[in-house]
Amino acid sequence: MAVSTAKVNLLGLTQPQMESFFDSIGEKRFRAGQVMKWIHHFGVDDFDAMSNIGKALREKLKASAEIRGPEIVSEDISSDGTRKWVVRVASGSCVETVYIPQGGRGTLCVSSQAGCALDCSFCSTGKQGFNSNLTAAEVIGQVWIANKSFGTVPAKIDRAITNVVMMGMGEPLLNFDNVVAAMHIMMDDLGYGISKRKVTLSTSGVVPMIDELAKVIDVSLALSLHAPNDELRDKLVPINRKYPLKMLLEACQRYISQLGEKRFLTIEYTLLEGVNDQPEHARQMIALLAGIECKINLIPFNPFPHSGYERPSNNAIRRFQDALHKAGFNVTVRTTRGDDIDAACGQLVGQVMDRTRRSERYIAVRELQSDVSAAAGRS
Ligand code: SAH
Ligand code: SF4
Repeated sequence: MAVSTAKVNLLGLTQPQMESFFDSIGEKRFRAGQVMKWIHHFGVDDFDAMSNIGKALREKLKASAEIRGPEIVSEDISSDGTRKWVVRVASGSCVETVYIPQGGRGTLCVSSQAGCALDCSFCSTGKQGFNSNLTAAEVIGQVWIANKSFGTVPAKIDRAITNVVMMGMGEPLLNFDNVVAAMHIMMDDLGYGISKRKVTLSTSGVVPMIDELAKVIDVSLALSLHAPNDELRDKLVPINRKYPLKMLLEACQRYISQLGEKRFLTIEYTLLEGVNDQPEHARQMIALLAGIECKINLIPFNPFPHSGYERPSNNAIRRFQDALHKAGFNVTVRTTRGDDIDAACGQLVGQVMDRTRRSERYIAVRELQSDVSAAAGRS
């Protein structure tokens, strides 16, 4: 029988998985914590730098394991502090990670897949089709890379990354195990110590996996709604044909209620001119979301060539926000950040990064956590 010689990539292992790994090589489990701190707190990828691990064990680790993040293709820092990385994953595709600082908060937008199979009509990632699932190491590797870029000071008082949103490329619930493992590492004190309220998974509505998620992890949930009725949502978000609105909202409510304490659902709603931004849509949305503990995030559409959609005027956006706000909803509108480096979450890069296509790649700017109320003084 052929024996596999592939090394285990320790970057993507959760604490229990790391302990099992040390079991499997006949070493003590407490080594898991030591190694995780070296990897995630100190950004180390070289076993020889692990000074509290003896030479013999370091040699053993070198023979059977590695610490390998995705390859950094480019790193840009905007004048407003926004940072953007393009990283290449094992399949050869490239995905993006964006860091957006605001006030005391720093939000990292992380990708889960190269491309996406769900083909939402206004999303350039969807237009590229599905290429590959990221491994757990490739998902957490984006946090690892971003964290390292801020310097790896032990026991950092001011963490640069306070929030993570799974809102980059891909549908995270269709890469379930790897995304869940990576989110566990984000929240683990041996990893990045981010609180469960500050790790958010965004989904277009893979209903069965929302229920599965509740069984294995406690993170915040964002729902990409985009339409207040099934007829329209069937067109904009095709997965709605399989899991229609009623079913979807019930699953989200189950998820929120199982968290055991008062938590909100975030509703994301990309505003498309003349398509889903009319007063009747606001009225339908008010009725649809009545009784659901939620915060609404309006995302003005970020255009890309041949999308067939337009971004509504600022007045139209304001009118839509006002209607929801008057009905008692907490509504924010996202604003653009990092313009000078095309920093946007998700939809930026083609599946395969090739220099000739890069110049003509389409950019659909997506903004994160720079949410502001369009009207001053609102909650
Ligand atoms: N697949 C997941 C997460 C990634 S997309 C999801 O759909 O929720 C993150 C968010 O960006 C989603 O709400 C998505 O609908 C939105 N989005 C996609 N394309 C956009 C565009 N061109 N302009 C504005 N928002 C967009
Ligand atoms: Fe996929 Fe989300 Fe884009 Fe829809 S919006 S195609 S689910 S990445």
